[in-house]
Amino acid sequence: MALRDVAGQLTRIHWGTWIRGAYDYNIRARRGTLPPKILQVVVNYRCNARCAMCNIWRMKPRRELSLDEFANIMEDDIFQNIERLTLTGGETSLRQDLGPLADMFLARMSNLKALSLITNGFLPERILAVVEHILRSCQARGVRFSISVSLDGVGEMHDRIRGVPGAFDRVVKTLEGLKDLRRRYDFWMGVGYTVMHQNLHHVPEFRAWCEEQGIPYGFQVVGFHEAYVSNLDRQNEVDFRPEDRDALIALMEDLASQRSWRNVLAFYWDDMMHMYRDGRSRQTPCPFALEGLILDSLGDVYYCLSSKKIGNVIDDGRSVSDLYYDPENLAYREYMRRHICPRCNSACAVGVALKKDIKRYARFLLTGRTGPGAGGEAGPDEAQNAAVPASSPRQ
Ligand code: SF4
Ligand code: SF4
Repeated sequence: MALRDVAGQLTRIHWGTWIRGAYDYNIRARRGTLPPKILQVVVNYRCNARCAMCNIWRMKPRRELSLDEFANIMEDDIFQNIERLTLTGGETSLRQDLGPLADMFLARMSNLKALSLITNGFLPERILAVVEHILRSCQARGVRFSISVSLDGVGEMHDRIRGVPGAFDRVVKTLEGLKDLRRRYDFWMGVGYTVMHQNLHHVPEFRAWCEEQGIPYGFQVVGFHEAYVSNLDRQNEVDFRPEDRDALIALMEDLASQRSWRNVLAFYWDDMMHMYRDGRSRQTPCPFALEGLILDSLGDVYYCLSSKKIGNVIDDGRSVSDLYYDPENLAYREYMRRHICPRCNSACAVGVALKKDIKRYARFLLTGRTGPGAGGEAGPDEAQNAAVPASSPRQ
């Protein structure tokens, strides 16, 4: 990389985030518990898709927290720490009060800097209307908005994975509408591809389509979880087979090869490549391990989408603060960091953690190494934790 390019990249970095993050992760976190700065709210467990890798659409209807109930929960001061909020589901747009709900979150989280929405893009009119509503509210508050639309293939491939004929066409309509909105509002939009056995070999086609459309894209390797998507029984169907190994590793290698100060995800992909290829434990920091929180539409609270439930604000009659700082729950989070995180392939917000863990990221940029062992070999600590991820072709 030319020196001029490096200098150019360095001037475009948000140094405040990196410096504050380095302090939080390397000094504050050693002295005590960091307050949660990143929150995901699961606004519902209803969905109009029939995805092969998820069981949310099969769940029996359960009573959802109303807007007022969410608002009461948000009286807790803990939410004043939140800087990044993601609204996910189920299908978020099925919630009729999604716009007012987002407004309430914006009003209650005075330090919020970024709000993201995840959608399957099946209901273009409804989605575009609510996105415009949220965009206006975010603009008024000076909060950045981003939206990620799920897209697991081009044309019939997407329909097959999502289990709904015509799904791809509806997503395209949503994406076109979002592009129109971008002419009037400043926000980020992109598509997210869940890589699994069924669509692994169709990645090149997907990338070509996104590039032709000028739409940013990202990947998440399918994972299996007892809670949230409750998809352990789908593993036989969608997990990678031995014959998928080379293609999966090649994809990860390719995604890891674009090392730069701005493309922090290259670290994550290099790490995933070592996990899947060598059985090495995860090295990528995760913000949910130190400063993350999940609240769902049932009032259940989690540290992350792979953790066990740490309580329910309604049934337990305890605040989110009580649950988050509960010593037993914190001990569980420590256990999670040691025993669950090393096997986790989640890409959720890893960019946030990598920007904060600057020491680790800088070493990667300089040496190309994500782990302590040279050439991808596991060091002694890793050997202890070495584990094949929740889904893996290493066999
Ligand atoms: S993955 Fe998303 S869109 Fe698909 S069924 Fe689950 S919640 Fe619905
Ligand atoms: S289990 Fe996964 S998502 Fe949860 S904190 Fe660990 S790395 Fe993050």
